[in-house]
Amino acid sequence: MTAPDSGRACGTCTLCCKLPAIAELSKPAGSWCHFCAPQSGCTVYADRPKVCRDFRCGWLAETSYPDHWKPSACRMILVTQPGGQRLNVHVDPDRPDAWQREPFLSDLVAWARDLVPQGISVVVQAPPRLIGILPTGPQDLGQLAAGGEVVLDRRQRPDGVVWRYRRVPLAGEFGS
Ligand code: SF4
Ligand code: SF4
Repeated sequence: MTAPDSGRACGTCTLCCKLPAIAELSKPAGSWCHFCAPQSGCTVYADRPKVCRDFRCGWLAETSYPDHWKPSACRMILVTQPGGQRLNVHVDPDRPDAWQREPFLSDLVAWARDLVPQGISVVVQAPPRLIGILPTGPQDLGQLAAGGEVVLDRRQRPDGVVWRYRRVPLAGEFGS
């Protein structure tokens, strides 16, 4: 897939066939889709599901993301959640520390400084950990496999506003 006017293209990158979970294919996060031939591509391309046809990672869709976020090189995928209230960073389980390296960590904190005050979460899924990025830096949110949803809380303190992430169970999860 090629992004119009940006010069960016998927090329031989197939990382979105590995990192995100794809419910339509019963594919868990972090494992290759069984239709994918790594480095060459989709073996059912003409018949791939709509979710695959429609998908563009952040690097491909948004030229505002720097070149060094090219997924095949950095081993991470940027995905804006529908509704735009969360930026997800999916990290290759074979390179779980990729997000902590520079210039990536500095980029994430800079984005959090811009997005979090707007109520937009920046969440890193780096197996086996889940991390929220705040304007002040990373907040470890525990085991990724624990499930649930991530909520961003705004607290007004005498010395200013403090942002923190919190995990809550989804409806029907953890007996709720
Ligand atoms: S992760 Fe992005 S660049 Fe890589 S194949 Fe998917 S859409 Fe293309
Ligand atoms: S069906 Fe094809 S495009 Fe979709 S995840 Fe599998 S290999 Fe990738």
